Amino acid sequence: MQSPVYKILDRINLSSHTNFFFILIGCVLTTCALSDTISLYAFNSSLPEMMFKYEVEIRKQTFITTFILSTTFFSFFLYLLKHTDYLRKELENKIRRDSLTGLLTREAFLEDFKKQKVEGNNDAFLIIDADLFKTINDTHGHLAGDRALIQITQALEKGIRKSDSIGRIGGEEFAVHLKNVNYELAVDIAERLRKNVKAANENFDLEGVDLSVSIGAVIYKEKIDLPTLMTKADRLLYKAKENGRNRVEHNRINNKAVV
Ligand code: GH3
Ligand code: MG
Ligand code: MG
Repeated sequence: MQSPVYKILDRINLSSHTNFFFILIGCVLTTCALSDTISLYAFNSSLPEMMFKYEVEIRKQTFITTFILSTTFFSFFLYLLKHTDYLRKELENKIRRDSLTGLLTREAFLEDFKKQKVEGNNDAFLIIDADLFKTINDTHGHLAGDRALIQITQALEKGIRKSDSIGRIGGEEFAVHLKNVNYELAVDIAERLRKNVKAANENFDLEGVDLSVSIGAVIYKEKIDLPTLMTKADRLLYKAKENGRNRVEHNRINNKAVV
């Protein structure tokens, strides 16, 4: 569970403008409070009477010193806050990303997915599986298989929009969430992903290897529970495999046709 401090930090944009604002407000408040207290204390205690003629000068000096000290303190405090926040985000990113492809892990993808459906829009959920991947490992070894996975990842990432999200949900299986798409656009994007992977063969010259993916795509309007959606996309994926691989099979739910 996220701590309340991190929740607050997430809402605050620690940009340089915000930093400057925080430092300024912090310093002014601290200086006003401290310098007055210090001066009061000085004048009420053992200050020799002859020194009272220097009161204005002493107050000025106290104010300046307090201001410098509080600026240093607040700058340091903000630096620590920012650095901790940066480290936390780095760590979060590391945990949420798959180490081979850099894509979201299954858990992170599904967690994001559950939060993201906007009511009233059409979305699409795609399950993508690399075709005959085992033969790449069997013929050329596991490392070549890993390189093939990276090529496929790059091809898929090239084909989606900035607003979409993609994750590696299994060994050679990926999921894509297309947000706010109509039926035709969803099918177009799915086809583009399939073609991008085919085109990636130009950069991946391994004897007898022909990279391709099969895709099951569900386009839906209402919010649907994830297991149902995944089952439907899986069913379409198997249909794509049965129909010869390197194919997109699609359907829509909540609109007209039902899988
Ligand atoms: P299909 O077209 O029916 O999907 O055939 P396939 O060979 O892709 O399917 P199968 O499930 O039989 O094999 C998937 C293979 O993917 C098996 C596994 O060795 C390989 N694989 C899974 N994860 C990784 C990985 O991280 N690196 C490598 N190199 N191979 C992986
Ligand atoms: Mg598979
Ligand atoms: Mg496969």
